[in-house]
Amino acid sequence: MNLTTTLAKVKGVGLKTGEQFALAGIETVGDLISFLPRVHEDFSHIATISNIKPGKATIRARCEKITTRPVRRGLRITTATLADSTGKLQAVWFNQPYRETQLKSGEDFFFSGEFEFNYNRYQLTNPSAERVSNMPVQTDRVLPVYRSIKGLKTTLVRKILAELRPLITMLPETLPDSIISSEKLLSRSQALLAMHFPDSMADIERARERLAFEELFQLLLASQLNRQENAKLTGWHIPFEQPVVADFVKRLPFSLTSAQRRAAWEIIQDLERKTPMNRLLQGDVGSGKTVVAGLVACQVAHAGFQTAIMAPTEILASQHADTLDKLLRPLGISVGILTGSVKGVARKKLYEQITNGGVDVIVGTHALIQEAVKFHKLGFVVIDEQHRFGVEQRHQLLKKSKYMPHMLAMTATPIPRSLALTVYGELDVSILDELPAGRKPIMTKIWSPNSRAQLYEKIDAEIEAGRQAYLICSLIEENPDNEIKSVQAEHKKLQNSAFKHRRIGLLHGKLKADEKDAVMRQFAMGDIDILVSTTVVEVGVDVPNATVIVIEDADRFGLSQLHQLRGRVGRSIYQSYCYLITSTSAKPSERLRAIEKSNDGFYLAEVDLKLRGPGEIYGKAQHGALNLQIATLADTKLIARAQKQAKSFVASGMNLLQYKQLAADVQYYQRLTTLN
Ligand code: ADP
Ligand code: MG
Repeated sequence: MNLTTTLAKVKGVGLKTGEQFALAGIETVGDLISFLPRVHEDFSHIATISNIKPGKATIRARCEKITTRPVRRGLRITTATLADSTGKLQAVWFNQPYRETQLKSGEDFFFSGEFEFNYNRYQLTNPSAERVSNMPVQTDRVLPVYRSIKGLKTTLVRKILAELRPLITMLPETLPDSIISSEKLLSRSQALLAMHFPDSMADIERARERLAFEELFQLLLASQLNRQENAKLTGWHIPFEQPVVADFVKRLPFSLTSAQRRAAWEIIQDLERKTPMNRLLQGDVGSGKTVVAGLVACQVAHAGFQTAIMAPTEILASQHADTLDKLLRPLGISVGILTGSVKGVARKKLYEQITNGGVDVIVGTHALIQEAVKFHKLGFVVIDEQHRFGVEQRHQLLKKSKYMPHMLAMTATPIPRSLALTVYGELDVSILDELPAGRKPIMTKIWSPNSRAQLYEKIDAEIEAGRQAYLICSLIEENPDNEIKSVQAEHKKLQNSAFKHRRIGLLHGKLKADEKDAVMRQFAMGDIDILVSTTVVEVGVDVPNATVIVIEDADRFGLSQLHQLRGRVGRSIYQSYCYLITSTSAKPSERLRAIEKSNDGFYLAEVDLKLRGPGEIYGKAQHGALNLQIATLADTKLIARAQKQAKSFVASGMNLLQYKQLAADVQYYQRLTTLN
């Protein structure tokens, strides 16, 4: 028996069980060994009912009486009387009616849960229950609990793993010994033994540390190696022409911030090198990233190369095309736009221009990565709002050039440093840490749904002063089953009552592209006073005259999403306001209080990371693919340790291929995150 043996051949696993495992993606012995427990239950400290104390507690008892009753729709409460030789207590479960069948046997169980004051009495709430007779050996008091697999009990998983124990004991090491010893880590076999057959909670902690370290080390090593490989690629040489850039800057209606100058200079220097640029331009909402990309595109066009700018929405693509056309056309640089709504003859003509070099700068959506789009000489690729794209989409655009083009990814979602290392480890980073002069901090207020009338007066005063407003709802159409606000209903309501005398626009994702475009243009021209919109305006949209944004049911949005939405205002010298209306008058969430308090995207990203984990911060597509089992990207200390080791591994010139398993895992991550 080895790691590749199919599970069905293991003692105690029949064909049917084997099939059920296979359905869950667990086919071999090795798969099951890597199937790590979801949590561990600590049964090592057993209280008696007479001396149990409030808090997390475990008792050994049997069930004397158990009943389930429906309380209201969607809630069934099961209550049981549990008894040991010292007394009785009550346990309660919410929506776990199966406890009745489980506990009726009269056997002894270990119950582990929160002993707390509830419904006027002390109770054990939602305890887990383990048959005492299922406990493998007397000393194993900490039990692994596995993610449930349809039709397979956790006890069976434990039994099969017990069969595999001798094999786990002999598992070879995957990390270099030097790292194990300098980081004082458990060996791979020790760690897996501790996860599946733990002696104590402390054991599990050490096992987690080892396995998480390994995952992070692989990830960071992959990005170090990618960086090395990128450095070997040949890119286009695009020389810096001072007069060209100076001319561009002179024509701008404002002067660049020093952060913008610094970033542009970093990029321009990269373009002069022989290796292709891989750079992330990170700047909070409204910091002026577009003009930096425009400046570089101008230099690139002057050298005879094309620029492709990819944006996540049609609205944003068409706004960028307008902005850049204004800046670049006077300099003799042509700008084209390619989205799903450019059709027929116009599309064919644009394809031709892209292919024969008739257009210098092409702005577009995903439409840019289609097969039919063939560039004449693509030198520079900009990915705006890069967290909205998957790695694969970036690849496809970069592939459209003979040599690797220079790449600039832009994002307004600030990434805490720890994350930047893991996910964007192979990118250089430029930061716009400064807003254009004269911007006033946006005033943000949580607003009770009961005082909408007062809020509408404030908005009306802003409109009277010549400004404009956004009103954001999460739904498009009304849903009779709930109270959540929809753009269609709100649009109608505002138009018919509070804002009869104002021009109200409606925008959402179900409109046709040209309808969206028309509404957006009207709003940008000032022909609409209040734009009632869904989150289609969440990223990038730039209408500086808008100074108020109202977000209905604000608690339904994530922190970074709220920050992005708020970033639609505060884009001019006028004081701007953001009102967050809660769905109920209940206490506002921690998220809302955080955003009310701070305008600082970096601070909010850190809070978000703590509250929700990293998935939301750097885009689902990428996070999902990374598939970290144990490590969390919030663990900055462990990331720093793994980073140090990955760096010295590369620097020491050790041969990765010497570590077969490590090499395979690292290559997997390399493929996942590489840009070429
Ligand atoms: P973001 O970084 O969020 O993409 P944009 O590029 O959309 O920001 O710029 C926000 C607004 O600020 C735009 O209206 C842009 O014209 C303006 N802007 C950019 N740079 C400056 C500057 N240096 N001074 C004044 N306004 C600027
Ligand atoms: Mg932008």
